[in-house]
Amino acid sequence: MSQFVEELMQKVREKNPEQKEFHQAVEEVADSLTLVLERYPEYRSEKILERIIEPERVLMFRVPWMNDNHEIQINRGFRIEMNSAIGPYKGGLRFHPSVNLGILKFLAFEQVFKNSLTSLPMGGGKGGSDFDPKGKSRNEVMRFCQSFMSELFRHIGPDTDVPAGDIGVGGREIGFMYGQYKKLRNEFTGVLTGKGLNWGGSLIRPEATGYGATYLAAEMLATRNESLEGKTCLVSGSGNVAQYTVEKVLDLGGKPVTLSDSSGYIYDEKGIDRKKLEFVMELKNVRRGRIEEYAQKYKEAVYTPADPGKNYNPLWDHKAQCAFPSATQNEINKKDAENLLKNGVYVVSEGANMPTVADGVKLFVDKGILYAPGKAANAGGVAVSGLEMSQNSMRLPWTREEVDQRLQMIMKNIHKTCKDTAEKFGTPGNYVNGANIGGFLKVADAMIDQGLV
Ligand code: NDP
Repeated sequence: MSQFVEELMQKVREKNPEQKEFHQAVEEVADSLTLVLERYPEYRSEKILERIIEPERVLMFRVPWMNDNHEIQINRGFRIEMNSAIGPYKGGLRFHPSVNLGILKFLAFEQVFKNSLTSLPMGGGKGGSDFDPKGKSRNEVMRFCQSFMSELFRHIGPDTDVPAGDIGVGGREIGFMYGQYKKLRNEFTGVLTGKGLNWGGSLIRPEATGYGATYLAAEMLATRNESLEGKTCLVSGSGNVAQYTVEKVLDLGGKPVTLSDSSGYIYDEKGIDRKKLEFVMELKNVRRGRIEEYAQKYKEAVYTPADPGKNYNPLWDHKAQCAFPSATQNEINKKDAENLLKNGVYVVSEGANMPTVADGVKLFVDKGILYAPGKAANAGGVAVSGLEMSQNSMRLPWTREEVDQRLQMIMKNIHKTCKDTAEKFGTPGNYVNGANIGGFLKVADAMIDQGLV
């Protein structure tokens, strides 16, 4: 680590104590940027890095709501408006009990670079609440979403800040929040993405993150004249990203064998085929059940409950060639990363944001495997959100094929940017440096152009 990064990190820790995920995200980017700052000292003198780690605005607010037993509940709402140098703030809303300022700041920070990589005009933001939608009735979720939007609406807008979904926020929650925004503002605009198809949503938006992560894996494999055909794939999570990763892996001839939720994971040696995936989608999206039911229905699968006492996750300890972490941050620790390598995995495409701890990332990079960090691999979701914004502005929807083609083109370009940038800065094959530097340059130049604001 350079002296500059060390000093910067010390200040970041002092100024933002307890925000360990934010420290982790900043350190990874700052490390990559050492190469840039040496070559282009103007970024140092303009203090771009020091500016980029400070959110433009942080909103934190009370979200009161009433549960079905008529008891008053209080949650905390957030929106981090991180950087608007290249477009309106853009990034998802997460509803999960673990949500806090540090987690949302790491996500907003990552989002700035990711959005820049898509080459669409979108700044970076992120938000959410410590509300847990799990086990809540539809009415409870609706009341919460309405209360959340009753504050958020005054800070967002189609040209200001355009939130989307993330963990715990899918089509249902976006619908409730959109309804409330429309009522309060008395306008029908593209203020949220991930909307329903018949009220301004885009085809392929639900699929986009999982499809994109799979396209990126295919691009990386193509550099070695290989494809996903016949490859065994470990997938974690069983939500939006995981489901559509499995679907696209199947389309491209791969064999997904795992899925998980926070209670445990299933391993299906025969492979999760389309019929089984259909079952998972109904289980998770309609009945909102647990992944354990998969193994009750399909006897060839084995269910293993999560064991927080274990120092590794057995999901990552199966023979495979590819891994698609698609649940949450830091779900692959150092031991898991070692297990993946030991089991023959040489392609890791991160559907989730920062799912691998820093030591794990280092292992992947040092071993020279095809490793795409989240900000490149899962950018397909926000990219199609950007396409949803375009369609909303034009008031013209594109066909499924049109959106999918654009998504594929964007993922191809992201791959090329990462690969070429890594080479240009003397670290060929290092997609971490490629993504961090590639995402940074455009935002940094825009910040310089726009003066000290
Ligand atoms: P969903 O809420 O649809 O699914 C999340 C899945 O991950 C669920 O299976 C959930 O299990 C599991 N999970 C969540 N938190 C934990 C945890 N702490 N420990 C173990 N399992 C957990 O979310 P998404 O699929 O949308 O998001 C998954 C990841 O992808 C996140 O990192 C998100 O930031 C990232 N991402 C999502 C995008 C999108 O378009 N949706 C875009 C880019 C990135 P359970 O139900 O038991 O909680």
